[in-house]
Amino acid sequence: MTVPRKSSPRRTGRAAGGLKRLLHLRRSRCDGIADALWSRILRTSRYAQSLNASDRQRLRELANRLLREKSFSGAAGLVVTNAMRARVALHACLPVLNLGPDYYAGWDSIVIYPGDFRVHDEYTDEHGIVHREIMDLCGQSLSHGPMVLSWEAMRDEDEAPADHDLVIHECAHKLDVLNGDANGFPPLHPDMDVREWSRDFQAAYDWFRAALEAGGDPGVDPYASEDPAEFFAVLSETFFTAPHRVNDTFPAVYKHLQHFYRQDPCRYLPRESS
Ligand SMILES: [Zn+2]
Repeated sequence: MTVPRKSSPRRTGRAAGGLKRLLHLRRSRCDGIADALWSRILRTSRYAQSLNASDRQRLRELANRLLREKSFSGAAGLVVTNAMRARVALHACLPVLNLGPDYYAGWDSIVIYPGDFRVHDEYTDEHGIVHREIMDLCGQSLSHGPMVLSWEAMRDEDEAPADHDLVIHECAHKLDVLNGDANGFPPLHPDMDVREWSRDFQAAYDWFRAALEAGGDPGVDPYASEDPAEFFAVLSETFFTAPHRVNDTFPAVYKHLQHFYRQDPCRYLPRESS
């Protein structure tokens, strides 16, 4: 896939002079996302709105940092606005609010298409047969490559908030590949038990697939049944948008996500009406 790129403007500033000037410099550095725009985009995430003032401030600082460190470019004629950048940055920083920005090291660009985009995929199966596929996607995270997003999909989420969050989904893939393949197994913290994570995620994944095959509605996007990487990504976005649904259906998985992300959205968000 060929996408246009441009380098991100990097802000530099050196404090000099009296207190007034220092204050001014400090303030302008914090003003990556203007107050009015920040208030507006906060409304695109129920979870971000529910955070306390100091967490919201940390989220804003992380978002400003992401805007300085990642380049944004529009594809297929899309002109990327400050509002689009800010909207992506806010959602991207929710998963790393208590992890830190280093979790997004190793890739540097975000590409936004006006709507779904077409990709040509090629893979070799276990028999050595090469398969070529054409897929229309609304999001894609390439290992060590750009994150690619559909603006239409994000706008749809904002107009009718539900349990979807494309940016968080793609960011979960970015976290997943920090220790190798996309397989639903991100690098766990030292106090987390790898075997318990694997056991509980595998049991939840198997149950979820069986429930779908039996015609049930397990309350989570069926796309999670695609493979373990999608299961982790879909459950991560649901964790931040409709956390009670994850906790009710997969309590053990909720606990693992709570430890991994070091956040507990069930404490902040009211139960979703069914
Ligand atoms: Zn995915």
